[in-house]
Parts: sequence; structure tokens; C-alpha cells
Amino acid sequence: MQTDKFKSEIETLKKFFELHCMDNHKNQKHHCKQLIYNDEKINTDLELCEDCIHLIHYSFDRLIECPHDPKPRCRTCPSPCYEKSEWKKVAKLMRYSGIQLGILKIKKFFRIKKN
Ligand SMILES: [Zn+2]
Repeated sequence: MQTDKFKSEIETLKKFFELHCMDNHKNQKHHCKQLIYNDEKINTDLELCEDCIHLIHYSFDRLIECPHDPKPRCRTCPSPCYEKSEWKKVAKLMRYSGIQLGILKIKKFFRIKKN
């Protein structure tokens, strides 16, 4: 996949992980993670608890290894690379944050409509 696509995938993971972690876990710490993709260094700042840090590093590794181009949604991938237990955790938090972000978007929409 292109580096830009990779970066946007990283941003999406970060956003979804952080939202879920803030709402459901405690003791978030600041982490700075450097990833190397297509010989480019990508720095990302994470605000997550220890468990989520482990899980998002795992997700980053899977993404780096992803052989598909274009990358399908992981949910519809013909050759899923996540271990089942890890996938369950990630799928759950992505669904949670997806709903939250959906709600936020709807709220914003209605606020604009009223004005
Ligand atoms: Zn967490």
C-alpha cells in the first residue's frame, strides 16, 4: 500500500483506540511510537493505557505486514492475519468507537441544522 494510505490507516487506528480507551480504561500514558514504512519514518503520538498500547502495536505490525493492495477492510479480508483473540478485542473497540463517532457526527449535523 502507498505510504499515504498507510498513514491514514494509522490515524484511524489511533483515533478509534484512543476514543475507546478514554471512555473505558484508566491510567492513559503518553507514548511516542516510530514506525518505518516504505523506508519512511512515521511518528505517532499515542494516549493509551498499557493494554491498549500492546494491542495497537500489534495492529500496527499487522498493518505493516499486510500484503494486500489495495487493502480491503480487515472485516472483509480473504486472508485475515489477526489471531482470533486479538481480532475480537480490536473488532469490539472499533465498533464502539465507530458508533461514538457516528453519534458525534449526527449531533454536529443537527446543531448545524438548527442554526
Ligand atoms: Zn485502554
